[in-house]
Formats: sequence, C-alpha cells, structure tokens
Amino acid sequence: MRSARLPHVALLAVLLSRVAPVAQAPRAAAGPTLFEGARLIVGDGRVIERSAFVVDNGRFTGVGQQDTVTAPAGASRVDLSGKTVIPGLIDVHTHLGYRRGATFLAENFTRDTILDELNQFATRGVVAVASAGTDRGDLTLRLRLAPPQHGAILRTAGRGLAPPDAGPAPPMRDAPYGVSTEDEARKDVRELAEQKVDFVKIWVDDRNGTVKKLSPELYRAIIDEAHKHNLRVFAHIGTLADAKDLLRSGLDGFLHPVRDRDVDEELLRLLKERPNVFFALTLFAPRLATYTARPAWLDEALRGGAASPEEVARLGDAVAARTPEAAAAAREEWERLARNVAKLNAAGVRLALGTDVGGASAGGLFGWTEHIELEHMVAAGLTPAQAIVAATRTPAGILRLDRLGAVAAGKSADFIVLDANPLENIANTRRIARVYLRGQEVPRAVTGSRE
Ligand SMILES: [Zn+2]
Repeated sequence: MRSARLPHVALLAVLLSRVAPVAQAPRAAAGPTLFEGARLIVGDGRVIERSAFVVDNGRFTGVGQQDTVTAPAGASRVDLSGKTVIPGLIDVHTHLGYRRGATFLAENFTRDTILDELNQFATRGVVAVASAGTDRGDLTLRLRLAPPQHGAILRTAGRGLAPPDAGPAPPMRDAPYGVSTEDEARKDVRELAEQKVDFVKIWVDDRNGTVKKLSPELYRAIIDEAHKHNLRVFAHIGTLADAKDLLRSGLDGFLHPVRDRDVDEELLRLLKERPNVFFALTLFAPRLATYTARPAWLDEALRGGAASPEEVARLGDAVAARTPEAAAAAREEWERLARNVAKLNAAGVRLALGTDVGGASAGGLFGWTEHIELEHMVAAGLTPAQAIVAATRTPAGILRLDRLGAVAAGKSADFIVLDANPLENIANTRRIARVYLRGQEVPRAVTGSRE
C-alpha cells in the first residue's frame, strides 16, 4: 500500500520557488563588538592562541591575532581571556518531532515540539541540524524558511524512501514513502525535488532479517532520478556489502558507518574515487548499549538543565536493565565500529558529526548528545581537533551551509564560548559559558528552558 501523499504540494512548491531555503538572514544588532583574548579554534584545523574577532550585524567581519584586528569606531569590547571559542556545531543526522518528555509518539510531531527541539540544540551550541527522512507533512519544510530567533537552523530530507513498512523503527515507520516499483520511486523523488528538500534519504537495511531491504534496482533508480534533479542521496546502511554496492551506484553519503564487518581495502579504494562521499558516525546509540553502569554525563545533563528528569530516568533504567550478555555483544559491535571509524579516518575519508538524536535508539537529549558524540569520536580514534572539524566545517559543507562551520570573516557569527580547552580534553566542549547565534547571545531564559 502507498502511504498518504503530502497535502498542498502544489501550493508549497509555489511558495518554495519564491523563497530560497536560506533562512540565515542576519538580525539587527547593537553595532559592532570586538571579542578578544580567547583561544580560537577556527573550525578548519587552525588554532589562534590569543585571538580577536569582530562581530557586526550578525557576521564575523575581522578575525585574527589579538592586536592585529582593529575594532571599528564605537565598537563594544568583550574580554574572553582564559576562554576558548569554537564554531557552532552542526549535526547531519537527527530525527525531529517525535519525543516529548519521555514519550516517543507520532502525535508529538507538532510545530511546538520541533521549535522546542531547535531551541534546545541552540542552547548547547548546535546551530544547524538535518532531519533524516522521518518528517510528517510539510511542517519542517515551512519551519526551514522561518527558524526560531534563538533556534538552530533546520535542513531536511522531508520524507525518505524505503520499502513499504520497512524503513525506520516505529513510531517513525510510516513517515517515509513506501516504494515497491521503479516508477513509484522516481515519482516520489520528483515530488521531493518540487519541495526543494535538502537531500534524499533512503534506508537500506533488513533489520537482521525482520524487514524487506530496499533493492539495488530501486536505489539505483532513486539515485539516478535524484541526480537528474540535482539532489544528493544519503543512506542509512549497516553492512559492508551494501556500502560497496551503493558507492558503485553513485550514492553521495552514508548516515552510519559499516557495522557488520571490518572495513576492507576494496571499500577504501571505492571511497578514494569518490572523495566527497562522507560518513556520519552515529556512535552515541551503539556506545550507550555498552554501558553497564549509569554514565556520569547523564547526571551532568540533568544538572545543566540539558535533559528532562523523565528522559534521564528512562536512559538510566535502560542501562540498569541490561544483561551482561547484551552488554558484551554491544561491546563487540562498538569495538568493530571504532576500528572502522579509525580506518576511515586514517584513509582521509570525510567524517561528520551525526548523532541520530530523536530517533529510536539514541534518545532525546537534543543538543547534549552531540557533545557526548564528540567524546565517542575521540574514543574511536579521531584527535580532538579532527572531531571539531568533523562537527563544524565538514557538516557545513555537506549541508551546503556556506555561512556556517568556521569563525572567519563573512561567516554567520555562530560560536560557543567555553571555560576550558577541548583540545586538551574533548569533554570540555560541555563547559559552555555562552552561545552566540547570528551574533546574538542565546539568552539564559532560552538556555534554561526544558519542559
Ligand atoms: Zn537515523
């Protein structure tokens, strides 16, 4: 059976054709400000130990060594001595709209839920997120054009594609298009192109033999049709064999690493021919499954107001209920994942922050999960500096957010002021003093809000 089509598609297409999905317009600010003295982690791998940068009208206008950047007349000054500044983080793999408190329901998919999530992301310095194919109706397509003042920017695949009743786990299962024939697949992609989605999402996974896997014939048709419309296709995968065939079929990015086997030379060779192809790492849920004791960061999240007591209790209970056998199996999978991430990293493959937050297995700590994921990326073999690039410049490039991803002249002034240096300990990205979005400090009233 075909799932229901979007209402008002024609009207939406007209609206979208008139308004480009940029939504990064600078907001009025109180004149230029010089921020000086911080250690600046630029986002491209460089570090400026004693930096200065000017923010004017929502943008960085000058960035460099302290004493080489001159403040415009009348600029106010902010002393950041002893602090470290990093660019805002960008998460390329999220699922918005389903979680509210400890509930995980399709009925939660409302404007209020998503706005609340975008605000939570921004509170923790996550300035842009991509919703990976589980949206319902046209809500996210509309929100993309008008992000909340203090919220993260939204990018979206709209509805992804999978065989009928075989995509993401419930309650997201019915959100994607259910495709059985090549004609259906091409028609759905054309509809997505009319909606100007940011990318196309497919699921290629039989969930351990429990559901039908998207066939090569269908994903080749989807990739072909998407490329005709200048859209890229990103896949949920699990196996090495599928990763190789998808690469040969022209896929543009992977939203998970290979998890069934160790990455081999053949895969690395295929990746070398396609240097723009990336892997989102999504290590949060696999690592969560290995814990046999409540991780300290859960209580840290609660204390910092980054998580609701219900959500912390739910995650804590899941750890407590885990059998030793389940934890041992999860550790084996985690170790294989970590080896694969290290191999991809050593081969120079593009790696990006992607957490799966809001989905079935990663829980709903929006804006917090990203910081824990950074720690896992380092545990899997990235240096802290590489992990920060993978969370800033690389995902900005993937999502074509040209104004984000670095502290550089001309970019949107989205940055995090930290009390400690994450190059010494990546967990220091959680020691947030302040967050600035489009040149404005995210107010405490927003940073403290959790329902
Ligand atoms: Zn996902």
